[in-house]
Amino acid sequence: MKHQARKRFGQHFLVDQSITDGIVRAVNPRRTDLVIEIGPGLSALTLPLLEKLDHLRVIEIDRDLAARLRRQHTPERLSITEADVLQVDFTEFGPRQRIVGNLPYNISSPLLFHLRAVADLVYDQHFMLQREVIDRMVAQPGDSDYGRLSVMLQARYDIEKLFDVPPECFDPPPRVVSAIVRMIPLGAERLKPKSELAFEQVVARAFGQRRKMLRRVLADWAPDVPWEALGIADTSRAEALSVAQFIGLADALYAAGR
Ligand code: SAM
Repeated sequence: MKHQARKRFGQHFLVDQSITDGIVRAVNPRRTDLVIEIGPGLSALTLPLLEKLDHLRVIEIDRDLAARLRRQHTPERLSITEADVLQVDFTEFGPRQRIVGNLPYNISSPLLFHLRAVADLVYDQHFMLQREVIDRMVAQPGDSDYGRLSVMLQARYDIEKLFDVPPECFDPPPRVVSAIVRMIPLGAERLKPKSELAFEQVVARAFGQRRKMLRRVLADWAPDVPWEALGIADTSRAEALSVAQFIGLADALYAAGR
């Protein structure tokens, strides 16, 4: 029976095999890899992944699609978690996770942050997302789309945009251009903020008023930032600061008891 695409679950099914081939080539799975697919839908990626793997785990919110997958595959080959991915505890799956998915675009940011919290357990992530979101993820200081997403994700991952995917590769076609992104968690040697919370807070505050001078934005909350010692001009705006400068700023605020 034909599945009617559900808008509330962001369902746009891939129908172009050259794209699914391209994604599987980019992931390049080995038979025993721990691969987790988010939102398998009608199996466009699931089947070619299963061909390369002994076992695949999928997470699908749509009850009908999960039931369909259960009918088509044995649990030895495919483990199905029928759930909202935002409620799934990825620590249960163990280390070296390779997470893949043509993601529902309506939850992309919360999902990227949900996974960021378990990045230590992740080997890599390959996602289809709205191209505009990927442009924000890879943006550099001074770019118009540099913002909270760029800083928070670049502090934790090496991020590479791989290729674009036009709307006609999906049924139904989305209204936006999509693209594929590869994210590899940075190792233990990365620059780490002393407090993740202070880092999150300062980045969120700074980009809450991105056109204003940081000194003004933070005036009430943190009036005594040692700008000079941090090597940041006190006339800077959030959009000019590098990830390392944000971490330095967060550390200074944390040390000052913020
Ligand atoms: N992978 C399929 C493909 O490429 O054709 C489907 C992609 S479709 C854009 C997104 C998939 O994610 C759908 O199967 C949808 O039901 C599922 N989905 C949406 N929201 C979800 C959520 N919160 N948790 C888990 N799966 C979700």
